Amino acid sequence: MKLIFLGPPGAGKGTQALGVSSRLNVPHISTGNMLRAAVRNETPMGLAAKKFMDAGKLVPDEVLIEMVRERLSMVDCKPGYLLDGFPRTVEQAEALEQIASPDRVINIAVPDECLLDRLTGRRVCGKCSGTFHISKLTDPGVCPVCGWTLTHRDDDQPVTIRQRLKVYHEQTAPLIGYYEGKGKITTVNGDCPPEEVLASILAALE
Ligand code: AMP
Repeated sequence: MKLIFLGPPGAGKGTQALGVSSRLNVPHISTGNMLRAAVRNETPMGLAAKKFMDAGKLVPDEVLIEMVRERLSMVDCKPGYLLDGFPRTVEQAEALEQIASPDRVINIAVPDECLLDRLTGRRVCGKCSGTFHISKLTDPGVCPVCGWTLTHRDDDQPVTIRQRLKVYHEQTAPLIGYYEGKGKITTVNGDCPPEEVLASILAALE
């Protein structure tokens, strides 16, 4: 199964991808996680990408397309993939059609007014990639799943979040129409508890 999770920042794509990728036995490929690893490792690509990420802007298409092309050529992608955060532009979607066309697209819809609170309160585990809202944590610095340190992403600050939402509406939301045209997309309501979102996704994939 070749699957894409589409949705605005904070829609829960990463959280849902963790559960769905293990059920489908396909790798969860988050381009945001790959870029953050490149930034941490101070690779030339990471250093170049950082200024776009810090500004809440998209990293140029050619960088992302090559990164994803290389990742999808790896042996673990033979059974398929679950892409989270890619494509984010029509140009990236067109490139993906040439690399490995997706079978299905799940659009996780959440109103903008919920996203600001979700993102400002979001804490992320650097080890298991779990994502938690600060209001649900007893210790805001410790992952309740694996005990590792939780961090507040640099780009989860209000000014950057507003910019990321603007970019989403301008450059990524047009992909909903793009995949509707191909008859591949199902929209699920992401504005409800994670287990309900998961159930909707699994039902859509049946
Ligand atoms: P994410 O973790 O998916 O929210 O991505 C964090 C940041 O990484 C985004 O705000 C972009 O700057 C960059 N990024 C991730 N995926 C892409 C993509 N497909 N195209 C361009 N930039 C991306």
